Amino acid sequence: MTDTLLHIDDLKTQFFTEEGVVRAVDGISFDVNEGEIVGLVGESGAGKSVAAQSILRLIDPPGEIVGGEVRFRDEVLFGLEEGPNGELRERDEMLSNEEMRRRIRGREIAIIFQDPMESLNPVFTVGNQLREFIKINRNLSKSEAKEEAIGMLREVGIPEPVERYDNYPHQFSGGMRQRVLIAMALACEPSLIIADEPTTALDVTVEGQILSLVDELQDKYDTSFVWVTHDMGVVAELCDRVNVMYLGEIVEQATADDLFYDTKHPYTEALLDSMPRPDQTVDELNPIRGVMPEAIDPPRGCRFHTRCPDAREVCTEVHPDCREVSDSEGASHKAACVKHDAFDVGYEFSDPIEIRAETGITGDVVTDPQEGD
Ligand code: SF4
Repeated sequence: MTDTLLHIDDLKTQFFTEEGVVRAVDGISFDVNEGEIVGLVGESGAGKSVAAQSILRLIDPPGEIVGGEVRFRDEVLFGLEEGPNGELRERDEMLSNEEMRRRIRGREIAIIFQDPMESLNPVFTVGNQLREFIKINRNLSKSEAKEEAIGMLREVGIPEPVERYDNYPHQFSGGMRQRVLIAMALACEPSLIIADEPTTALDVTVEGQILSLVDELQDKYDTSFVWVTHDMGVVAELCDRVNVMYLGEIVEQATADDLFYDTKHPYTEALLDSMPRPDQTVDELNPIRGVMPEAIDPPRGCRFHTRCPDAREVCTEVHPDCREVSDSEGASHKAACVKHDAFDVGYEFSDPIEIRAETGITGDVVTDPQEGD
């Protein structure tokens, strides 16, 4: 029996803009177990970073978490209930902002952002920032915290950590700065680290080094991760389980092995097809056709239907939820696609029916760009 560390149920985060309401995260649910690396993967605009930041309630106006529940062990990080007049209000047991700051952020759940320069202060040395973080969060003296900081720099593979302790962030390479952020995230030995595309800005070799380091440290500290990425290669290398996001929703949820070898959703298939594979030689890459529609006005029916090569008329009408579609008794495998028997829409998928623009569907109906050449 695995212990659930993080439980997310029907989480919704919206941005209230002049153009309308952007449903960036629209009812996602997933769990993270102790010692597990869970991926959130999808293209830009899928809502994965907003989802990750919503876990720690790091959403600023005009954004707002408007529904669902986030639980970390027995603590309610976010949860709403209906008040006496039907209004939604925060549940009594939900942690206050002060408690989130004091007990959870950094100590229990740490976050690593994509751009280390946004997280490191350019006017203080790297050692100073790491030492202060450790001193405050672990209640150590200045000299004890300095010793710990140098130890953490060594642990994440910074060469000559004693000398490097006095360097400023600009004196570190991008990969080394990202290592410093990993050191900072691990400094309090949190149970969960949320990594928001931390290797996206790095070159492939440095990215490989960081992923190996994370793998090694995860084994050592048994830390759980939510790993946000658009890169299926990173998912293959790191993740135990994966949530594929499209336009604010989870469309496939499976173990990493099942996701790669028994793919159940056409969007995941398209992501995999667009990825260069070292084991295959291809003349050209196969990008996902079309562009992701705006989350302010998502297409009716299946949100992927405007780009889906398998789309049928029914896909323009039924909005599929993410439900169990596994055909074995193994691990859970969920997908939001009506072509699976679990949806029983009374439609024969072997009969192709073209989706026509006259159906009045919001969003462009995509044809293969090569067809028009
Ligand atoms: S429901 Fe239809 S449009 Fe959506 S992914 Fe499945 S086949 Fe494609």
